[in-house]
Amino acid sequence: MSTPTDALQRLRRVHEDAVLSALRSAGGLSRAQLTERTGLSRTTMFAIVSGLLERGVVIETEGSAAEPRGRGRPAALVSLNPDAGLLLGLDLGRNRVRLAVANAAHQVVATASADLPEEAGPEEEAESAVRLVRAAAAERGLSLGALEAIGLGLVGVVDEHLPPVPLGGERSAVVPARYLPLARRLGEEFGVRLAVDNNARLAALAEATWGVARPVRDMVYVRWSVGVGGGFLAGGRLMRGAHGAGGELGHVCLDPEGPPCHCGSRGCLEGHIGGRGLLERCAAQGVRLPALDALVAAAQDRVPAVCEIVASAAADLGRVLAGTVTQLDPALVVVGGELAGLGSLVLDPIREAITERSLPRSSREIAVVPADLGVNASAMGAIALLLHEEPSIPAHLRPDVP
Ligand SMILES: [Zn+2]
Repeated sequence: MSTPTDALQRLRRVHEDAVLSALRSAGGLSRAQLTERTGLSRTTMFAIVSGLLERGVVIETEGSAAEPRGRGRPAALVSLNPDAGLLLGLDLGRNRVRLAVANAAHQVVATASADLPEEAGPEEEAESAVRLVRAAAAERGLSLGALEAIGLGLVGVVDEHLPPVPLGGERSAVVPARYLPLARRLGEEFGVRLAVDNNARLAALAEATWGVARPVRDMVYVRWSVGVGGGFLAGGRLMRGAHGAGGELGHVCLDPEGPPCHCGSRGCLEGHIGGRGLLERCAAQGVRLPALDALVAAAQDRVPAVCEIVASAAADLGRVLAGTVTQLDPALVVVGGELAGLGSLVLDPIREAITERSLPRSSREIAVVPADLGVNASAMGAIALLLHEEPSIPAHLRPDVP
């Protein structure tokens, strides 16, 4: 539930964004110029600038002749602090690692990616990730000494009940065993705070922070790719669930008698409409395709059998989403991943299935839209994770969890 404090924080962030965006486009501005450009009241603007100065996000320099004030000293100019803390988002996918770097003004200043070697082990993954960070920093002239924190997106469940792993100093992180070498390596190499979450959930958070779901507080995000993942935003907050598995749409059971799934269940949505399932169904229709990007290309070329299979899979996804929509009542359903790039071929059947099968509501038709942020969404979401607010219940009021 939204509290007055939440509302105030949101408002403050909106004002901060307005000030930062004016500084990004104009460089240095005096407080008077900022007041004029943002339309904020003088008092609000002064409070916002003081807060940003305190956090080191902006700096103040001697004014120039650009704004003569008659008698007296020229006004001080406020500008973005180029040396302030960088935030790094890393997204470790099944066969690729991606990164995004944001500056103190929360502006993404670099993105990069590297393929992971086939069958890469955890140590090799860790090395690839560190190499990618160093190479991207060198190429963009970013000082890793200014790195303040790392957000890390992973495949699978990040269970907050796992014991935190020490990373040196007072730092620690909760990381699934598979990724311990990576967490330790990042701790050793960069010595900063590490925050970890599932990468589909992070893509949802990124869409809500920078993308298509930005004005929305209740949203269902699904990533349809080789795997099928998801993330739910309720009341402006990302739902992690009690065990870090909130939003795992791919493991909703479609068919209790279906083939076994790697999660231990049977007949999961992911097995049915995930990349491998789609390729198998195409092959059964005589269309052999080597990988998901070839399947997407074939659908774009309107190969009839492929289009039919994709559209029918989209309707299956829509039926699962109809249940989610009935239960969560979101304002928006966002579809990301490679399959979302097929536009109306997938979005229409999803929308139809939701409209047909979810609880009728006043607006009747729910907005189903493609994601905005493309392949870097999870790396950007890892940055958003670092910016995200503290849990809503103050620590001293939270019951002890054994
Ligand atoms: Zn499953």
